[in-house]
Amino acid sequence: MSDEKTGRLAGKVAVVTGAGSGIGYATALLFAREGARVVCADISGKEEEIVAEIGDGAVAVHVDVSRNDDVARMIETAEREFGGLDVLFNNAGFGGPRRPLAEFDEEIFDDIVAVNLKGVFLGMRHGIAAMLRTGGGSVVNTASVTGLVGMKNQAVYAAAKGGVVQLTRSAALDYATQGVRVNAICPGMVWTGLAGGEPGSAPPADLIPPQPMKRWGLPEELAAAALFLASDESSFVTGALLPVDGGYTAR
Ligand code: NAD
Repeated sequence: MSDEKTGRLAGKVAVVTGAGSGIGYATALLFAREGARVVCADISGKEEEIVAEIGDGAVAVHVDVSRNDDVARMIETAEREFGGLDVLFNNAGFGGPRRPLAEFDEEIFDDIVAVNLKGVFLGMRHGIAAMLRTGGGSVVNTASVTGLVGMKNQAVYAAAKGGVVQLTRSAALDYATQGVRVNAICPGMVWTGLAGGEPGSAPPADLIPPQPMKRWGLPEELAAAALFLASDESSFVTGALLPVDGGYTAR
């Protein structure tokens, strides 16, 4: 993929959650390269590292996306530092343990739903309010193929991601005439920390995911899809769910 700066987000202000790692990291870097000023949000502390890497035009915010006050502060940071909000990438999430449904205890259910579903709701709640103050914007949520099809041993995560799918579609309808577009990417299996990958590591050759392309997705391939939905190139697209999954959901 080219490193050339083409300015597809020139002049825009973006917030990226989960920016410390994986898909969020690749997307924050790409958004910055395309001209956006970027608020990099994460709970890991790695948000400081990516901001140092981007340099001018980026700020770090330490947040837990499941906490209302943290998310409000994250959006306020975009408005205070950069004058508004044009793009919100609600991407932070985690998979949780894999086991049959009856073996999930209540605390794990609450944690998975709090981050993966409530976190997206809170981001949209505060982010869309900010976008409406300046005439609109684009929300991109990270759902998953598990929000589109059932997933053995991942019922709770799948339910949370299914919730993200419906938050996306419904909010798109709520704001369709007010300049706010809401879409989601649905990653298949992508080689990140969530999948067991170390940052920058190559997936083991013998670990081939059950995707028709017979390979893992790369964080950069998800970032490219998020960029399309974030930019004005997708100006007539709202309420869409974009599988980026090597054909997984085409079967
Ligand atoms: P990752 O673990 O590399 O990155 C997730 C980031 O989110 C981490 O930096 C983590 O610190 C952050 N995070 C987790 N909980 C948080 C919280 N409460 N508040 C703020 N930040 C928090 O994994 P990834 O694969 O890049 O995941 C990004 C998104 O993609 C997630 O929503 C995940 O569910 C989704 N997804 C990933 C895959 C995959 O195969 N990797 C597949 C489908 C969907």
